[in-house]
Amino acid sequence: MAPEKNNGMVYLVGAGPGRADLITVRGADLLKTADCIICDKLANPALLKFARKDAEVIHVPKRISKGSFTQQEINQLLIEKASSGKTVVRLKGGDPCIFGRCAEEAAACAEAGIDFEIVPGVTAAIAGAGYSGIMLTDREFCSQVVFVTGKEAEGKQQSNIDWQWLAKFDGNIVFYMGVANLDFIAQQLIENGMAKATPAVVIADATLPSQRVVKASLAQLSDKCKQDYIEPPAIVIVGAAVDSDTRLNWFMKKPLFGKNIVVTRDACGNAEFAAKILERGGNPVEFTAIKIKPLTHTTRFIRALTKPSQYDWIIFTSSNGVEIAFDFLRSLGKDSRVFGSAKIAAIGSETAATLAQFGIKADFVPTIYTSRELGKQLAAFWNLHGKKVLLLRSQVASNELVEWLERAGAEVNNVPAYRIAAAKSKCDWLIKKITDGIIDWVTFASPSSVGSFFEQIQCDLVKSSSAKVASIGPTTSEELRIFGVRVDVTAREHTVDGLLAAIEEACR
Ligand code: SAH
Repeated sequence: MAPEKNNGMVYLVGAGPGRADLITVRGADLLKTADCIICDKLANPALLKFARKDAEVIHVPKRISKGSFTQQEINQLLIEKASSGKTVVRLKGGDPCIFGRCAEEAAACAEAGIDFEIVPGVTAAIAGAGYSGIMLTDREFCSQVVFVTGKEAEGKQQSNIDWQWLAKFDGNIVFYMGVANLDFIAQQLIENGMAKATPAVVIADATLPSQRVVKASLAQLSDKCKQDYIEPPAIVIVGAAVDSDTRLNWFMKKPLFGKNIVVTRDACGNAEFAAKILERGGNPVEFTAIKIKPLTHTTRFIRALTKPSQYDWIIFTSSNGVEIAFDFLRSLGKDSRVFGSAKIAAIGSETAATLAQFGIKADFVPTIYTSRELGKQLAAFWNLHGKKVLLLRSQVASNELVEWLERAGAEVNNVPAYRIAAAKSKCDWLIKKITDGIIDWVTFASPSSVGSFFEQIQCDLVKSSSAKVASIGPTTSEELRIFGVRVDVTAREHTVDGLLAAIEEACR
């Protein structure tokens, strides 16, 4: 009997144009289950966050001398991995079938008898136009769009591009891979009869915070791009659409568009912060300065959480404290019901929002989000005399909160739920970015981040650079001043949103 075939499956997945969350839901789902991911250079590496921890990830850059792959080698790799029974995701920039050599890869699978599926993606033309407010079709003015390669396959004998026809095309033309060839493209169109004044645009790094848009007449576009040092990846659009209403250019009008903002929390906190920066059009630069180490193994913590309902008040001063307490409860097979009728206080809106995720509505949130105000306001609004209060917070925290509560007659159990340790990260890349003047802002969301960051990056480097410094609140600003660092803005509301609002205000 012939041996049973043990074939896997190949998914040819469009990664979208740049911004990671422009991948399709289907594409993201497949990334989560893949055994092996074979990545194009244009696919955003941030997409690998979806990958299983044990997934094999292979980068296959083309056309780069060292470590580059030929198309033939990539085809073989797909077949080899799938033949050993693996689920393979071949992640390709944009849409896999638009100038993506999908045909060769799909044919190689078909030839080898391997099942495959094509998962479309948002192609650069659509994304670049959308993210610049350029309407490639318009029910009144334009009924046709054409996608053209600005660079034909090497060694090809005869061009497939009909320049005569293109020059007369009554619609919008999008060129891929055209920036290096702009002179040639413009010359061909103009020689074949297109008006020199035809509006044209180059959109580079579409959908990313580094997106750049250069508009000019067809005759002048190439010079303008050279002046502005425009580099690939970029698309070129030629046609009336380019003259669209400038009010529609929504993306580049975002409040933090293009700003490079360093975030210095723990990995998890940084990821949340980064998402908020992206939302505002900025470019988050993640540097893990601290690590949160739970202290859930300590007798004090275990004792406090064994019967928390004995307390009248339970106070959380950070989302970290909330998450650690609830993870611990989950590990015991318990949930928020263990708190019984104890009242719950949160230092601010973020901590309250994290509590809400676990089904708890905070009974008290002070109007100013500091430990001092929490103690002061709680003591002012509630009778704490003889009341038992449990604090679940960082091992290193100011004593002011305890003092306010005790002065109000409360019996306080101050239990460390976690400690903050310095994280050692690779920092050469960040030092270079700061030195090169690429960084616009360095943000600090806690005093511990300040200490750990400046242990690794010299204060003087930041002080002498063009980067500005933003702090989440007075305690963090004080710590920065101890290091002799000028604080450019301190958030009025001491949350990550407040910090970003302060930066936005300073950028206006
Ligand atoms: N399959 C891809 C295209 C690959 S060809 C897609 O569907 O988008 C590579 C070309 O795509 C680049 O030379 C550039 O013209 C274009 N491109 C890809 N990503 C881009 C981006 N973020 N911004 C502008 N152009 C991009």
